[in-house]
Amino acid sequence: MKKIQFFLILIIILICCLAGYYFFFLDKVSPDIKILNGRYIGGHNNALSVVVTDDRSLIKKVDILIKQNKKEKNIVFKDNNSTRVEYKINLKEMGFSDGKLSICISAWDRSLNNFGTGNIKQIEKEFILDTTPPSIYVKTHRHNLKIGGSGVAGYFVSEPVKKTGIEVGGYLFPAYKYNKEDYICFFSIPYWIQDRKITPWIVAIDYAGNTQKIPLNAYIKKTKFPSTSINISDKFLITKMAQFQNEYPSLKPLEIFLKVNRELRKKNREKLKEIGLETEPKILFKGAFLRLPNSARKEAFGVRRSYFYKGEKIDEQTHLGIDLASIARAEVPAANSGKVVFAGWFGIYGNTVIIDHGFGVQSLYGHLSYLGVKKGQFVNKGDIIGRTGASGLAGGDHLHFGILISGIPVDPVEWWDKNWIKNNIIYNLKTLSRE
Ligand SMILES: [Zn+2]
Repeated sequence: MKKIQFFLILIIILICCLAGYYFFFLDKVSPDIKILNGRYIGGHNNALSVVVTDDRSLIKKVDILIKQNKKEKNIVFKDNNSTRVEYKINLKEMGFSDGKLSICISAWDRSLNNFGTGNIKQIEKEFILDTTPPSIYVKTHRHNLKIGGSGVAGYFVSEPVKKTGIEVGGYLFPAYKYNKEDYICFFSIPYWIQDRKITPWIVAIDYAGNTQKIPLNAYIKKTKFPSTSINISDKFLITKMAQFQNEYPSLKPLEIFLKVNRELRKKNREKLKEIGLETEPKILFKGAFLRLPNSARKEAFGVRRSYFYKGEKIDEQTHLGIDLASIARAEVPAANSGKVVFAGWFGIYGNTVIIDHGFGVQSLYGHLSYLGVKKGQFVNKGDIIGRTGASGLAGGDHLHFGILISGIPVDPVEWWDKNWIKNNIIYNLKTLSRE
């Protein structure tokens, strides 16, 4: 009798232990399967990327089944001894062709759950295999640019693309849809380019990541940018650096000047690239751009400036707009029609207005004493948007006028010239149909 009782207690303890093990220690969680590709598989390695992980147990087996029409291939990976496995499978090498396919992945772990078979996870997803880069056909022919100048190109791309534009000197000028089939791209041979033999490349990357790159036939003229010297006086430092004292509270005026002229200038130029993307996908400008009426040019585009303080050279920067001086507090007209994308304080440029004219073309009005427009407002060519001044890094009352293409400053002179616009912009736009 005592023996039976002893065994009963032993069995109960054993059952409790097993139940305890089952509830508290046994891994009942399935492995996690991740397919790293988006909807498209392709790009430079054409690989399906799969990662299987398990928090607690080792992964026992992964089964990958790929189906396309009547073709079916099954790959089984066994005897893994890891909690994380990664596979890259080249579907093209396996004989699959571009188009839809479905992928079913099953994974088992080494847990004793399910009577020893382990936890299982299964996923099934549809993908598009795309291993063909898009084709590009250039439709415009006239691409005569000077270094620091502007141009436009139109081209056809054979399939929908994630990213396209013209790359020059490491900068990609984005292109925009112009009509049902064509892209349009305003671009520049940026002012920092030294060699007129540089090639602008049209780049198109499809949703699978396949990249096409073709050279754009362009005739590029060299530009000689002049140099000037600027003497920084104590009066300039004391009166002008007060505007930036809040940003650099512990620095002396000369130190503030160097920070502003180097770091803030750089920061402002980066910000221009961001604003350059805030653009309407249509042409808002019409004809030549307006120049500040009755004004004299005080500084040209691209001038290399050397800054001197007490006879010593302290800095060097490039002037990337045109300085125009009229009477003090002169009315500033919008150079062309467009949408105000910035109106406010803009570092070295002081009180500034930026107008978007579509497809990345923008005009900038710096050092204003008064802002007459607000962000988001549409303006017509000639509308008064503010008054000239000397805010920001300006010695005296003048307008710093800039033209930007996707945030890169270009020489505004071309945009004031109605013949240049007609021959280089309008002429090319006419070769693209508008549907
Ligand atoms: Zn200027």
